[in-house]
Amino acid sequence: MAKKKTKTEILNGVDHYISTGECPNCGAKGVEGDGQLESTGNKAYQNCSCADCGYSFTDIYQLVGIYAAEGMGFTMVLPVVKDLLNDLGVDATSYVL
Ligand SMILES: [Zn+2]
Repeated sequence: MAKKKTKTEILNGVDHYISTGECPNCGAKGVEGDGQLESTGNKAYQNCSCADCGYSFTDIYQLVGIYAAEGMGFTMVLPVVKDLLNDLGVDATSYVL
């Protein structure tokens, strides 16, 4: 049986998963979503599991901003989402409030 992890080890594993997508339990790259992303209000959830160690958990997402579609005449976004937009390939430099 695996050694029980300390609170710090668990939190470090979660931080590592959030920044890399690698398993919060074993660090492998085999994490996959199980089923669809489910949303309620401004939050969304998806069950996930690691193909390497079998660790199961739920991703928790929260709506942090929006950006308007082309031609909607609304071009401002909150600074907190600038990096997210850049990750999506959207140049948000001129849109930030
Ligand atoms: Zn794992």
